[in-house]
This record gives sequence, C-alpha cells and structure tokens, in this order.
Amino acid sequence: MYPEISEKRMKADFMELTTGSSESLDERRVADLLTEKLQSIGFSVTEDDAGEMLGGNAGNLYGFLKGSIPGKPLLLSAHMDTVKPGQNKKPILHEDGTITSDGTTVLGADDAAGLVEILEGIRSVREADIPHRDIEVLFPVAEEIYIQGSGVFDFSRIHAEEAYVLDMSGDVGSAAVRAPSLISFRVTVTGRASHAGFAPENGIHAIAVAAAAIAKIHQGHVEEETTCNIGTITGGTEKNIVPEQCICTGEVRSFLHERALYWIREIRRCFAEAAGNAGAELTMETEEILRAYRVPEDAPAVSRFRRACEELGLAGTLRPTFGGSDNHNFLKAGISGIVLSCGMQRVHSTEEHITVRELLNGAALVARLIQD
Ligand SMILES: [Zn+2]
Repeated sequence: MYPEISEKRMKADFMELTTGSSESLDERRVADLLTEKLQSIGFSVTEDDAGEMLGGNAGNLYGFLKGSIPGKPLLLSAHMDTVKPGQNKKPILHEDGTITSDGTTVLGADDAAGLVEILEGIRSVREADIPHRDIEVLFPVAEEIYIQGSGVFDFSRIHAEEAYVLDMSGDVGSAAVRAPSLISFRVTVTGRASHAGFAPENGIHAIAVAAAAIAKIHQGHVEEETTCNIGTITGGTEKNIVPEQCICTGEVRSFLHERALYWIREIRRCFAEAAGNAGAELTMETEEILRAYRVPEDAPAVSRFRRACEELGLAGTLRPTFGGSDNHNFLKAGISGIVLSCGMQRVHSTEEHITVRELLNGAALVARLIQD
C-alpha cells in the first residue's frame, strides 16, 4: 500500500532540523527535536552516554516501535551531526523546490535528509494504519568525526539483523554494499640538528630523508581498489639549522583490507630505506579507522531494497562507496547493513543542496521497506 506522504510536514521538519547549529559534538538541539518527534510517532526512545564519553553535548538516540508484521525488526539509521561550517545554518527553500544554505555554511542535508525521510516514511505508514514490521532507529552523534558516535554505541541492544543507513549522496534509489578499509599513519623522521652554515656535515637532514622517501612512494590510485596519500608534512625550526625532525601524515584506502595493509608496509619500507641511508631514526604509527566490508548481493537487506525500488519505479542500483559511514560499525557488530542514497548533492561544501522531490522519494522508500 502507498500511504500519503505529507510534503508540507516533511518540508517543515527538514527546515527545522537544518536551522541553527549541529556540528559534531554539538547535536543537543537536533537530539531534543528528534526525541520529541519519535515519541509523537509512538517510539520508546533512549539516549546513551556517548556525549559524555566523547566530549559532546548529546548521546546516540535509540528508538523502538512495535509493529504487527512478524519477524525481526528493521534498523533505520541516519546521523545527527553535520560537518563544518555548520553553525547558525539558515536553509532556503527556492521556488523550484531546491533547498540550499544561505551560502555561508553547509546545508546539513547530510544527514537531515536521512533523518526526515525515516521519520516521514514511518509516520505516513502509521497514519494510514498500514501493518509494518518492528522498527528500530539509531540516530548517532559524531559520525563526521570518524564514526565515533556509533563506535561507542552498545550494539547488544539492537535486535535487527539488517540495517538501512540513509547517508549517501545521489538520487534516491541507489545503495552501497561495499566500502573500503581506511588506515591512517603518522611517520616521524628524526635526524640530527646542526648549524647550517658552520657545520652542516654534522647534521642529518630529516626533511631531506622524508623527501627521498616520498619521492619513491606511489600515491593516488596505486591499483584498482586502493589509494595512497601523504597529506601533511611538517619539519624544521629555523632557516639556519639542519632540520632535526620531520613528520608526515597520510592515509591508505582500499576495498581489500589486505591490500591496505600491504601498502602501509610499502610506505614504511620507503621511509625506512631513506632513513637507513642517512642514519636517521624512524617511527611510524598507524590506526585502522575503517574496516572494509562487502554485503553479498543476495543478502536480505539488498533484496528488500531492490523489491521496494521496483515497486516505486526507482533505479535500484548497487554501487560501491569509497567513504566511511556508521554502516562500518554496523557490519562490525554483525548487522548486515547497506547505505542508501537520500537525495543530497555536493555534500561537505557550502553548495550542498537537495530537492523536495528527493525527500519525498526517500520517505516513500522507507515506507515500502518497513511494509515488506
Ligand atoms: Zn553523512
């Protein structure tokens, strides 16, 4: 059944959620609004202590709504925080149905679009008295700062085995089933300082060592599934001193976790060789930020998504994403999740925008998913 989706209410919700401030760790206002909206639909809502743990002012919101279709609940998720500049946002609804910021901040459709599509999709089904499955929602904080909010959530509370994370750019009707590993690194080269004029031969030039290493390191698309990047380099203290220290940071991403590890080893090898040649010391710290996943195309979440798209006349395409999302933490917790496009465009920029039509499509998709 196709419930009536209220365009008016959806626009109002979207404008309300994208007004004001909601940068990572400052989600209080959005969390309060969402708690109220979820409760008015009939959800029981709890907020965890992620705010205290991460130094923010709000926790992850978890909600449960009983349905009448038997079976495991479905988990629907969208994050509450936005990237910078995201303070004092003022959304503008244009005559043609496009919504933008006033040009000084991001719009925050990432991820308010996901939030309102979930809310309105569920609300429309409830109002029309259409049977639906048990529904769990998780609205995490601090997604934009390396998915930290969902990273501290207690997943033993989740009963769902499949999840839909509404947090991808592009028209509604496509989903990501594959995402990369991301390993960041920080290399410190320590040489020896010496006066650059009186006794340069007594020094070991840390910047020159780093430069020699970087010249040998492959960057960009080093193979089909993998990218490498040296992102920052800092070193030296004075124009007349042979630099003692040089610090380089960067990242490796790959759809294949093993290949990410291989390229990290390659980068370490290049630095170690250059340091060895010059007699410099080397330390390298690495951190696994994301672990690659691939959801099989016959997984229930994928089949359900495709059925819903077919019924609604949406494309139903599957594609990889090369970015992180809360879905990484869902997969880690054993929940088979996919990431859905929710209509937002040019995210993480002040040109971010979305159309009312896409918001309506997103709500219709949620409404189909929970009836299936
Ligand atoms: Zn996002």
